[in-house]
Amino acid sequence: MIFVTGGAGYIGSHTCLELLTAGQEVVVFDSFCNSHRESLRRVEELTGKPIILVEGDIRDQPAIENALRTYKCSAVIHFAGLKAVGESVEQPLAYYDNNVIGTHRLLAAMASCGLRRLVFSSSATVYGEPQHLPLTEDHPLSATNPYGRSKLIIEEMLHDLYRSDPTWQIAILRYFNPVGAHSSGRIGEDPQGIPNNLMPFVAQVAIGRREQLMIWGNDYPTPDGTGMRDYIHVVDLARGHLKALECLDRPQCFTTNLGTGIGYSVLDVVKSFEQASGRSIPYQLAPRRPGDVASCYSDPSKAKQYLNWAAEKDLLTMCVDAWRWQTQNPNGYQTE
Ligand code: NAD
Ligand code: UDP
Repeated sequence: MIFVTGGAGYIGSHTCLELLTAGQEVVVFDSFCNSHRESLRRVEELTGKPIILVEGDIRDQPAIENALRTYKCSAVIHFAGLKAVGESVEQPLAYYDNNVIGTHRLLAAMASCGLRRLVFSSSATVYGEPQHLPLTEDHPLSATNPYGRSKLIIEEMLHDLYRSDPTWQIAILRYFNPVGAHSSGRIGEDPQGIPNNLMPFVAQVAIGRREQLMIWGNDYPTPDGTGMRDYIHVVDLARGHLKALECLDRPQCFTTNLGTGIGYSVLDVVKSFEQASGRSIPYQLAPRRPGDVASCYSDPSKAKQYLNWAAEKDLLTMCVDAWRWQTQNPNGYQTE
């Protein structure tokens, strides 16, 4: 039985689908502060398998202990957390509370139940301003905002925990830019309000919900002047978690990137999305967004060697799948 915190969210729901498909049983522990029950209902519908759902907050240690014991969980995949960089600057305490204290309580609950197998969602944001590209796992770490700092603190907390008790089995996964949706078009990313991220914003422009894309900066030292990122299909990313779980068959604490290794510019994404949707994406060039880096892409070779995992889906597939999700669910999970 795999215990998935934040399993109703964007990456969590895709991972639950892959886990169930692979024959695992799943308990989702989620407060629904940034997700809908409907995502889990659809995962059940797609797989024909049930998900055990416990509604709760990861800061509620007794509730976690109770669920871990009741369902005899053998591993935890920990997605639950807040993830908006801008919001974290405005509400740092909410981010440290939810992400850092929440993870601390989860780890304490696990320890008290004798469960020491964990996959943690970290982020490429822990690399800060890239000193060299592609980003290898040994690149120096730094954070430029409270969200990133919460991930860094948790990574350090996990290393301390492992040093204190080397029977823990911990995988720290640093995601690059997850995009796209399941190929069924039934589950996908459902941002509340105006999307901060490029791909959901572009999808909403393509469908006519927003007038135009603002491209934040075209004077970066990149081939076309717009920012470059390592976009990774969410289904590839989800599968990386199953590979990480497979590796956690012995005590260790390892860290790996999950990315494709390829950097695409904002204009590359716009062109691919136009091709995928057959719609034009009007855009306007605007000044750089504060805090953005010019380029960020992974060296994916450690994941290849260590997890025997590599991303398979290309940018056009990411856009085709994001577009299918957008057209079938113009208002996200609230469409039905
Ligand atoms: P998401 O917001 O869609 O999912 C997070 C889930 O956690 C939601 O279902 C939310 O309701 C739940 N949650 C939040 N706080 C909770 C709490 N205190 N108790 C219980 N449930 C809680 O986000 P996502 O995109 O699926 O991201 C999952 C994880 O991956 C997060 O930790 C995020 O920081 C990390 N990550 C995401 C990205 C990205 O671009 N999406 C990139 C790097 C890392
Ligand atoms: N971006 C943009 N317009 C938007 C959203 C994003 O030009 O409305 C750019 C942003 O400057 C960056 C890239 O798209 O170069 C990816 O941004 P996103 O927020 O999706 O990811 P992150 O910056 O967190 O890597």
